[in-house]
Amino acid sequence: MSPRRVIGIDAGGTKLVGGVVDEGLGVRHRVHRLWRGGDRGEVLDVIVEAVEEARAAAPDAASVGIGIPSLVERETGASMFSTHLPLEGVPFRDLMRERLGLPVYVDNDANVAALAEFRAGAAQGARHVVMLTLGTGIGGGVIVDGRLYRGARGGGAELGHMVIDEDGPPCQGACPNRGCLEAMASGTAIGREGAAAAAREPESALARELREGREITGALVTELAHDGDAAARDVLERVGGHLGVGIANIVNVFEPEVVVVGGGAIAGGDLLLEPARAVVAERALPPSRDLVRIVPAHFGGEAGMVGAALLALDEGGV
Ligand SMILES: [Zn+2]
Repeated sequence: MSPRRVIGIDAGGTKLVGGVVDEGLGVRHRVHRLWRGGDRGEVLDVIVEAVEEARAAAPDAASVGIGIPSLVERETGASMFSTHLPLEGVPFRDLMRERLGLPVYVDNDANVAALAEFRAGAAQGARHVVMLTLGTGIGGGVIVDGRLYRGARGGGAELGHMVIDEDGPPCQGACPNRGCLEAMASGTAIGREGAAAAAREPESALARELREGREITGALVTELAHDGDAAARDVLERVGGHLGVGIANIVNVFEPEVVVVGGGAIAGGDLLLEPARAVVAERALPPSRDLVRIVPAHFGGEAGMVGAALLALDEGGV
């Protein structure tokens, strides 16, 4: 008998990553989509299309797990609020079950990423784990004594909206706050800081790319930093410092054994994490700061997809 397979979908703020995942967490038939902009109907259509594409490659896939960048109501699987996608007030789980004709399990995208890393990734064996996903925004997942912490209705653990600079830049999307961690340390923030550095330092590789007409994104800054551009490295060091301030707060509040950092921006690796670790060592309280390990996600940018598949394999989620 062939092993049970499910479809995992990570519907992030900018793009969708999906795939067919088996019980051993092997991934096949990956599916990628960029949002075409547009409204709620368009976003839901893209998700349905992605599931159908994966299903065409694996007709035996019995159920679907979906991570969405939303506050997901535990009782109903409804999307109560979303900073980055037009999904506020959408009865998401029921709607997907109806459109797909399959069992569908839903949770917040960073919660499912945390689940993947806790069960089978960089935080395996730990009981107290915090996950940060650095992408368009910053998602947070908190595992307390082996269980996901979701808050009263499902809106908790939004660590990306922890304020680290009261007078900092306005936050993104639908967040009314300023100086949130995600305004200072997300992939978007890396791109913004990179563009400022390009303007400031005309001799840098960043400035050269800008003159050649390329858009300065977080991914480009990271690529140039790995290539050794001093201005790009400087950006990652500064952003890594902001990340460290956020993680120092997390360490003081939760005393986790492991903080896992994932999402697309973790492509920066130690160029981002070393400055973060240095700030945590300097600012967080002992002994928690000495206990915690700050590590990159084992599943990289696929943690959300694998975690979403785990929801379906467990028939869990909200
Ligand atoms: Zn915010």
